[in-house]
Amino acid sequence: MTNEEIPVLIVGGSLVGLTTAMLLGDLGVPSMSVERHAGTAIHPRAGHFQLGTMEMVRQVGLEDEVREASARTYHPKGGIIEVSSLAGEQRATYVEELNEGVEGYSPTVRVFVNQDVLEPILRRRAIELGATVRNRVEATGIEQDADGVTVTLRDLDSGEESVVRARYVVAADGNRSPMRERLGIAMQGYGELSRSITIYFRADCAPLLRDRNQGVIYVRNDALRGFFRLDRTGGTGFLVINTVGEDVTTDEAVNVGEGLTDERVAALLQAAIGTPDIPAEVIDVAHWRAESNVAERMRDGRVFLAGDAAHVVPPNGGYGGNTGVQDARNLAWKLAAVIKGDAGSALLDSYDAERRPLGRLTVEQAYTRYASRVVPERGTDDVEPFIPDLTMELGLVMRSGAVIEDGSDDGGLLHMPPADVRGRPGTRAPHVDLGDGRSTIDLFGREFVLLAPPGSPAASATVPAGVATHVIDAPGFIEAYGIAHHGASLVRPDGIVGWRTSDGFAAGDLSAAVATILDADAG
Ligand SMILES: Cc1cc2nc3c(=O)[nH]c(=O)nc-3n(C[C@H](O)[C@H](O)[C@H](O)COP(=O)(O)OP(=O)(O)OC[C@H]3O[C@@H](n4cnc5c(N)ncnc54)[C@H](O)[C@@H]3O)c2cc1C
Repeated sequence: MTNEEIPVLIVGGSLVGLTTAMLLGDLGVPSMSVERHAGTAIHPRAGHFQLGTMEMVRQVGLEDEVREASARTYHPKGGIIEVSSLAGEQRATYVEELNEGVEGYSPTVRVFVNQDVLEPILRRRAIELGATVRNRVEATGIEQDADGVTVTLRDLDSGEESVVRARYVVAADGNRSPMRERLGIAMQGYGELSRSITIYFRADCAPLLRDRNQGVIYVRNDALRGFFRLDRTGGTGFLVINTVGEDVTTDEAVNVGEGLTDERVAALLQAAIGTPDIPAEVIDVAHWRAESNVAERMRDGRVFLAGDAAHVVPPNGGYGGNTGVQDARNLAWKLAAVIKGDAGSALLDSYDAERRPLGRLTVEQAYTRYASRVVPERGTDDVEPFIPDLTMELGLVMRSGAVIEDGSDDGGLLHMPPADVRGRPGTRAPHVDLGDGRSTIDLFGREFVLLAPPGSPAASATVPAGVATHVIDAPGFIEAYGIAHHGASLVRPDGIVGWRTSDGFAAGDLSAAVATILDADAG
């Protein structure tokens, strides 16, 4: 049995674990991720990546690579439609084009790129940035004390056990989260919605697509309900099936996976394609549970839940992985600041305070999309009103000790249209075009950033260590950030506004704000 020490141990080396490792590496903090599988995801699963995820990808220098990978596989203007079958009629258009209405809000775009393509890119970058990623290693035990966490690991090839001592653990171990189970953290929400399947297949569907965009194609007919995601050739892809049969109100309808034979899989796939003239070859079938639940807490002492371990949603809307990436962004800089001694450990309390209400909101919104798009007959009375995707991506509001309210907060509101956000503390610091393809978003990621207009006293003020000042003389800046000519905005390393002053600036106020956010002594 060997003993190793590492600042952060991450259980799970999939989308969220690798993102956490990469962001910690970018902040100069070593981590070790352990993943029981031999490699990264083998199936596409997540495919729809939102602006927030792409902004993170841009900040770590991977935007071009990810967009190229996306363009190889998907049409960049793919939308979300509903058909009776691929050969049948188009019944609804949910989203005309993936990026409709986003112009001006971000320096990047939403993309369709498969999880099995994205994860190796994140993994490589995490390792480049100093992270250790160990595959075929399972975390089998966890014990924490006042100073750290002891995690028992088993090498699944040799059977050898080892022990790692970490200051903090991130449990990015998926919706079944063995770590969450061990910590006795319950999930709350709608429970299991269906026992769904995903059929991975090859079939020449191109002639059926005509000029229809190939993003997400919902299918609804008497045999099944679910959705297709096809690559840009129309020749490979997958079909998710959430319900079978005409009457979706029965238990059998949502238990798609039970008693499934090869013949039944082939028949369901053919019913979704809608014509026997196009033969299909099934490559694999994955069984999974559609759920809509959030953890009752996202932290237990030195262990933090992130990603599907903390909230699990049905894939309708593409929220699962994207929400997990934002967990990682929120958590990584806080862990780094505490580990480097820049912040007090109370900063870590803000993780649950900021992320869990948004996790709950996201669970509700994914449920709203599932209930109304997939099984409206099961009733939509208990669903919360639909919130537009752009608001869910860019208009979320966080409250905690790491956000300093300036009187603009109107209470419990967790979301607002991005055009109304105007840089209020607790929201995403807006994109302002700085010219030459540069954005304010590009300034964030590693340190606190003080943004000030040229006329502000903040532009020439002495700032605390760990804060970088940028004087912004770009059109629309002061309006976008909701500050006056003499004001300034302090953006946290995760791109969230932590504090702002609308009029007038005093260096002492800035120092006090940074100290409050970090739970550190002022000065
Ligand atoms: C059909 C489908 C379509 C989807 N589409 C989208 C989409 O378009 N957009 C989107 O954002 N999301 C989508 N999702 C959801 C997305 O796939 C998940 O939210 C995402 O994978 C969560 O990442 P994670 O890292 O938190 O968990 P996971 O991907 O589940 O990874 C957890 C990892 O932890 C490992 N692990 C568990 N326990 C241990 C242990 N004890 N020791 C070592 N390793 C361990 C597991 O092997 C696993 O690799 C979709 C999901 C499905 C099923």
